[in-house]
Amino acid sequence: MSRIYFDHSATTPLDPRVLEGMLPFLVESFGNASSQHVKGREAREAVETARAQVAALLNADANEIIFTGSGTEADNLALIGAVRTSVGPAHVISSPIEHAAILKTCEYLEESGVSVTRLPVDSDGLVDTLDLEAAFRPETRIVSVMAASNLVGTVQPIAELAEITAEHGALFHTDAVQAGGKVPIDVKSSPIDLVSLSAHKLHGPKGIGALFVRRGVALAPIVLGGGQERGLRSATENVAGIVGFGVVAEIARKEMDAEATRLRNLREKIVRVLAQTVPQAYVIGHPEKRLPGHLSLAFAGQEVLAGRLVQLLDRAGVAVSAGSACNAHHADKPSHVLLAMGYDAERARGLVRITLGRFNTETEVDRFLEILTRLVEELNPDMDWTTSPQLAGPLQGVTV
Ligand code: PLP
Repeated sequence: MSRIYFDHSATTPLDPRVLEGMLPFLVESFGNASSQHVKGREAREAVETARAQVAALLNADANEIIFTGSGTEADNLALIGAVRTSVGPAHVISSPIEHAAILKTCEYLEESGVSVTRLPVDSDGLVDTLDLEAAFRPETRIVSVMAASNLVGTVQPIAELAEITAEHGALFHTDAVQAGGKVPIDVKSSPIDLVSLSAHKLHGPKGIGALFVRRGVALAPIVLGGGQERGLRSATENVAGIVGFGVVAEIARKEMDAEATRLRNLREKIVRVLAQTVPQAYVIGHPEKRLPGHLSLAFAGQEVLAGRLVQLLDRAGVAVSAGSACNAHHADKPSHVLLAMGYDAERARGLVRITLGRFNTETEVDRFLEILTRLVEELNPDMDWTTSPQLAGPLQGVTV
C-alpha cells in the first residue's frame, strides 16, 4: 500500500506542472541571466516572468521581489539588512515562537549590541496588539512576526500588527514561509514592508526563496558580489529554481481559495472523527485562525509518547512530525514554541503535527484515522519503551 505523506510543513512534493516549467532551464535554456547573448536573454526573460508571478501572489510590483537562496536567507536579509541601515542604536521587536531563521538572527543581532524585545504569545500562540503597542521605543527599527506558525499553524493578525508598526515609524517584516500561498497576503492593502517566502513549502523546488521589499525601504545586502537582484543578493541567479517558484506562485494564487476549503474540510474531518474515537486527543494552536491543512494534536495523559507515536505511524506508512523541538536535531528538548504558549516542559514535548497538502485525498485521511486510532489505543503510557526491541531508537522530531 502506498505511503501517506502528511508532513507538508516540513516540505512538499514537487507539482508536476512546476517540474515541466523548470526542465527547459535545466537543459537547453541554461544561460546566465546576466549574459548579453540569446541564452542569457532567454534566462533573464524567464527570471522576470517569475518575478512578476511571485509579486502577484502578494499583490506587489515585480520590482519589489528579491530572489534569495531560501526562506532562511530572506529572513536574515530582512532583519540584518534593515538593522544595518539604521543610524545609531537599533531595537528589534519579534516573538518567541518564530522559526530558527528569525530566532537565531535576533540572537546574532543581540550579540552585536542590538536590543531585541520578544512579545509574549497567548495559549493559542497569538501575539497581542496591545503588547506590540507597548514595546516600541524611539529607536525601534523593525518588527518581525511570522504570518503563520510552522509548528502550531496559528495565523497572526499581520495586517493589524503592520498598521500599528507603521504608526510608530518602524518597518514591519513577516516570515510568511508557511503562510504564503495558503492564506491571502496583500501588501497593497496593508503596510507590510518585508515578506519572506520559500518555494519548497508550496510544491516548488528547494533552495529558492524570495523577499518582498516595499519600494523605498532601505536594506543593506548580506551577500556581496556581482550585484544581482538590485545589489541586494549577489550570485548568479538560480534560473530553474526561480522559474519553478514563479509557476508555484501562479498556481497557488489561482487555486488558493478552493484548495484552502478542501484542506480545511479534510482537517476538520480528522478533528471530528478523533473527537469520537480518541477523546483524549486535543488540538494545539488556535482552533480557527490556523493554516487550512495544519493540525497539531496532543493526547492527554500520553503526551510523553508523541515521539513514539510518530515512529509507529512511520512504520505503518504515515509520515507526520513530532513536536518535541523546532527541528529534528533537538528532538529531546521541549518545544520553545509550546513553552512560550504556556505549556509545561512535559506537555511541550507532546505535539504530533499533521500537515496536509495538494495531493492528499479523503481516502488517505480515512486510512490515517484508522491507523492513528489503533496506535493510540495500543500506546500504553506505563510501558517501558526503552526495553522494547522493536520500538527503541531515536525519537523523531519536527523538521521545519
Ligand atoms: N520560516 C519558517 C516559518 C519555516 O517554516 C521555514 C522552514 O524551514 C523557514 C523559515 C526556512 O525556510 P527555508 O527552508 O526555505 O530556508
